[in-house]
Amino acid sequence: MLRISQYLREVAAAERSGTYPKAKRRVQAQGQSQTSTEPKPSGPVVIWNLTRRCNLTCKHCYALSADHDYPGELSFAEVCSAMDDLKTYGVPVLILSGGEPLLRPDLFEIAARAQAQGFYTALSTNGTLIDAPLAERIAAQKFDYVGISIDGTRATHDKFRRLDGAYDASLNAIRLLHAQGVKTGLRYTFTDLNDQDFPALLQLMKDEQVDKFYFSHLNYAGRGNIHRGRDARFDATRAALDLLFETAWQDAVAGSERDYVTGNNDADAAYLLRWVQRRYPQWAPALRERLVAWGGNASGVGVANIDNLGEVHPDTMWWHYPLGNLRQRPFSAIWSDRSDPLMDGLKTKPRPVKGRCAECEHFALCGGNTRVRAQQVTGDLWAEDPGCYLDDAEIGLSAEASARLSRVETTAFNYSTKLTPKTIAIHAA
Ligand code: SF4
Repeated sequence: MLRISQYLREVAAAERSGTYPKAKRRVQAQGQSQTSTEPKPSGPVVIWNLTRRCNLTCKHCYALSADHDYPGELSFAEVCSAMDDLKTYGVPVLILSGGEPLLRPDLFEIAARAQAQGFYTALSTNGTLIDAPLAERIAAQKFDYVGISIDGTRATHDKFRRLDGAYDASLNAIRLLHAQGVKTGLRYTFTDLNDQDFPALLQLMKDEQVDKFYFSHLNYAGRGNIHRGRDARFDATRAALDLLFETAWQDAVAGSERDYVTGNNDADAAYLLRWVQRRYPQWAPALRERLVAWGGNASGVGVANIDNLGEVHPDTMWWHYPLGNLRQRPFSAIWSDRSDPLMDGLKTKPRPVKGRCAECEHFALCGGNTRVRAQQVTGDLWAEDPGCYLDDAEIGLSAEASARLSRVETTAFNYSTKLTPKTIAIHAA
């Protein structure tokens, strides 16, 4: 996840003072941040899909969730046991997700235990089930952050989420939580189906005093892969990011606390750098240093996923690629095992990427972007990310390299994955 506001606040501070501010170390999670002086935890942020059951069947759902029970989900005792291991391993943040996590009857007991152990505890929900009593309960539980998905204005969102009334219910949840003082974020996945609504959603964020805007690109996992033909066009993506950067910049200059972040396309770091190079070129080298220190894609290193059945994945977009199950081995053992070729490559510095990514001048700050899109489209874990919207000149390719390297099209289809009969049975339903 790229913290647009954090970087633009630094540029704004440099503009005011004439000096680029010193780096602050942050504990990172999807949707949250904490400045800290404590020694850095060594474990990844864990996004934990506690249940796959969901009352919605959204078009981009990586979990292919539906509204029925999924047998074999981790019990409360198994969750607690895994949590002990995560704590010992230095995991700083748990993002409790689903499916719809509020459908899990013991969600609040799990959250309470996580908080008692000192985890930064966040909730990721579609918001449609949150009425006044539930908002009160969420506030009383003192979640550090609640992210609610809104994928467009009313008609678009309901179509995207495939439920009439979903928009009104989710917006009501945002209002109820805000009234309770809960820190909330609006999560938006940008596609060809809802790109027209982006400006209205930025306005909605301001009108409803939402704390954070999470702009997610489409990743090719679950239904997001099935519908990848509706991924946003590159020119639409660039226009949206221009608007996002300008909005975040205006807020940074005004001293607003509103946060803007992006995810699922680490080329955003290069695009942000280019934006600053055009507007405030004197601060671009310092910004570049910060972005290189961040390092781009964090799958398999700084972010991890545990699914409802206890399977561990390099991140939430890798549900089709299990690394091992908590019922057989603790998370710490699975996560540190580099015998798996994907995990070994993700932990290798630099990652063994190919094609345009290998020759890109922004590789150090992008990390080669998401390997999921590369693998879903080409079958090769280390091929270039076809979701990169930067042109050859923007990534510094020579004319010779540009002629030699043909771009991979996102419409190509190759589903060569680590799909075992077991994985198919678990995840393809
Ligand atoms: S070409 Fe690859 S490494 Fe370079 S910005 Fe695009 S996705 Fe990132």
